[in-house]
Amino acid sequence: MNVPLLDLKPQYEALKPEIDATVVRVIQSQYFILGPDVERMEGEMASYLEAKYAIGVSSGTDALLLALMALNVGSGDEIIVPTFSFFATAGVVSRLGATPVFVDIDPVTYNVNPELIADAITPRTKGIIPVHLFGQAANLKPILEVAERHDIPVIEDAAQAIGARYADGKRLGAIGEVGCFSFFPSKNLGAFGDAGLVTTNDDDLYQRMKIMRVHGGERSYYHSVIGGNFRIDALQAAILSVKLPHLDRWTAGRRANANRYRGLFVESGLTDTVDQLLPREGAPVGLPQSAYNGEEAHIYNQFVVRVPDRDRLCNHLKEKGVGHAIYYPVPFHRQECFASLGYRSEDFPEAERAAAEVLALPIYPELVPAQQEYVVESIREFFQG
Ligand SMILES: *Cc1c(COP(=O)(O)O)cnc(C)c1O
Repeated sequence: MNVPLLDLKPQYEALKPEIDATVVRVIQSQYFILGPDVERMEGEMASYLEAKYAIGVSSGTDALLLALMALNVGSGDEIIVPTFSFFATAGVVSRLGATPVFVDIDPVTYNVNPELIADAITPRTKGIIPVHLFGQAANLKPILEVAERHDIPVIEDAAQAIGARYADGKRLGAIGEVGCFSFFPSKNLGAFGDAGLVTTNDDDLYQRMKIMRVHGGERSYYHSVIGGNFRIDALQAAILSVKLPHLDRWTAGRRANANRYRGLFVESGLTDTVDQLLPREGAPVGLPQSAYNGEEAHIYNQFVVRVPDRDRLCNHLKEKGVGHAIYYPVPFHRQECFASLGYRSEDFPEAERAAAEVLALPIYPELVPAQQEYVVESIREFFQG
């Protein structure tokens, strides 16, 4: 059997007539830049995400960059980010001449540990970027409390977490000052290329981000501030409008697959109970834990287990035809490009442990039970022979 980490084809096949017709319609209109399809998608996203405003942009990375630009982040400023995330979270900070300040994670959720944020704040701190990693809500309440005490904006990196809700029932992305989303094809709502979105409830930030998306001019060729080209393609927006109504069903499929994995891992003896987070003697597979708000807080962009002897297990899975990936093997504090910041690995024990143990398994909604059984059986074979 062959189980890919992600297979986008069944999802496309299921919507093919509607998507193909939409693509042809946009091409025939020859209206490619912003315009009615983008505005419609933005309205639908704002409503789905329960945010006052949504602005389509060119990628999740550009969503983060635009948010920081709109908040006037620049040289001499510091932005607090978890050390364990996709590169863009920290990269955008440095690109603006500001300094990313790394904080260790909570081992249960892999998200920034709110208790460590207060110590990382200095008079130069201009923002905090909690990441809702793998699709699970970061613990926002204590983060918002610290941020409010110091009058610092919170920029949610919700690139992997579209549709998840925090403990208070609020949709992620609409809780901090700005929410940043990615429609990279492997995210739960994927475009057919690069695309992203920012959300906000703040009128002023909305206006700033909207004009900064197009070079900082409300009118063409008159520039009040410096922006960039952060536009989303009309084609991508139109495709996203076709896909959005199906997102909740796909999310339900991912959650059902996550629960099936839990049952299978316990049944196989690889895990003692569904509450087991860390690998231990005789029970080598630690399972992802749903924190704060149970099911609603996690949309399983990734199903990430923890295992010992990971690199040898990866070789075994490769031989077995089981797709897998390591998100992420190197935390920011150990990245070569951030060496000059002078961090020490000893200061980030949880991120270090996660980087050594994490393993993402196939979780896409169209995965069938026999494939999941094969994934777990392949892992069982490695540990139990
Ligand atoms: C995917 C991702 C991004 C960047 O999104 P792109 O659309 O690929 O630019 C940013 N942050 C996180 C956590 C991501 O997973």
